[in-house]
Formats: sequence, C-alpha cells, structure tokens
Amino acid sequence: MRILIISDIHANLTALDAVLASAGDVDGIWCLGDLVGYGPDPNECISRLHDRNNFSCIMGNHDAAAMELIDTQSFNLEARRAIEITQHALSDASRAYLSSLPEKLTFGQVTLSHGSPRHPVWEYLLDAHTALINFDYFKTDFCFVGHTHLPVQYSLHDGWDSVRLSVPRPEQVISLGPRAILNPGSVGQPRDRNPRASFAIFDPDRNTWTNHRVVYDISSVQERMETLGMPARHIQRLAAGW
Ligand code: ZN
Repeated sequence: MRILIISDIHANLTALDAVLASAGDVDGIWCLGDLVGYGPDPNECISRLHDRNNFSCIMGNHDAAAMELIDTQSFNLEARRAIEITQHALSDASRAYLSSLPEKLTFGQVTLSHGSPRHPVWEYLLDAHTALINFDYFKTDFCFVGHTHLPVQYSLHDGWDSVRLSVPRPEQVISLGPRAILNPGSVGQPRDRNPRASFAIFDPDRNTWTNHRVVYDISSVQERMETLGMPARHIQRLAAGW
C-alpha cells in the first residue's frame, strides 16, 4: 500500500503537479496543512486535490490565517501581504473547503497534525527535546507533521525516554518503529536549501517511509507571483530553497 504524504503546498500548483506525477498511483493522499499562503495558485491547488480519491487534509496556520480564524499580527509584514492576496483570491468553494478542515486526524496507527500533536496549528518541531515532550500528546504509533518545511524523523529509543533526530536521504526506505514523528518536507516552499519539491510515501502494511524530491519549473511560479505583486523575498526564496 502506498500513501502519498504531502505538506505545505502553499498554493504552488506547479510543484504540486510535479509531486502528483512523480508519486504515480497511490492508495491515498494525506496532506498535513498549509494548502494556501505564499504562492499564486490557492484555488487551483485546492481543487486539484479535492478531486482526488481518498484525499484527506488538516488545517495549517496559513489556511487558518486565510480564513481569518487566527490573528495575523504575529506574521511578519511580507507574510501578511501574501495572506491578503490569498484572501482576495479565494473562491467561495475554496473558503468552504478550508473552513471544513480539522486540526487533527487519525488513520489506524497514524495521527496527522500540522505543527505538532500538542499544539496542532502553531508549534514548530525543530529539536529532539520538543519532539520527546510531544510523544505524550498522541496515542498512535506514528505522528506525521509539517509546518517547518524540513524533512525529518524523530524516533523514540532507550526505553522510550530519549529521541533520535535523523534526516532521511531521498529515496532511502526507512523502517519505522516502535514510535516516530515524521515530516515529509514542503511541496511548495522547501526550506532545507534544496529547492526541489519534497514529499514522502508511507506504506502502512510494511511501516516504511521514503522521502522523495522532484524538480519543477520554479521560474513559471515566480512569474505568476510577480504578476500578482507578491513580496520579492517570497519569490526569490523558491529558487534557493530557504
Ligand atoms: Zn507552511
């Protein structure tokens, strides 16, 4: 069984299409939030995924901000500008879909949350200590998160009181267990200095996880962002992956 795990698409349809093509036939798609924000194609990304069989998604902080469900004062000026452009662009159907997204989902032995299981929409899991605390906030074997835009695995070790952080190499098949928190990286705005779109394939029968990277036409996305008057820094960062 192959489940496509994606996160932080950020309205980048060209990256999303490259990921869907590269993943090929899958038995389900689980999205870890931030469908919109930063990028030029919010409605197109939502409808592309919404139409797919067995697609499930949770809410990210940019999705919540676009729906005015959270205060955007904590976002920097450029992020707020991008959110305003997104708010202006969203269709009624996209709004209805985004407002329907739950903060957490569970499928079998997997919990899905955008930031962390403790604070689903906001918390960044960036170190082993914070990850260790978060293992108390979900009951399944595995938790898949996004939000940092960095592919990573946190696995429990040593009688379950220490956590090992590792960064999966692309195409490396990882056997999961007994408990782990994993991040597939970002489809639409990678931040690990590798501009290729990032995603993972999870096999719930074998409990394996494989990270993948795929090239896409970054300059075409940058051109659409420029046309929409999006912040220059957000346009530049796509090419360098930060
Ligand atoms: Zn994000």
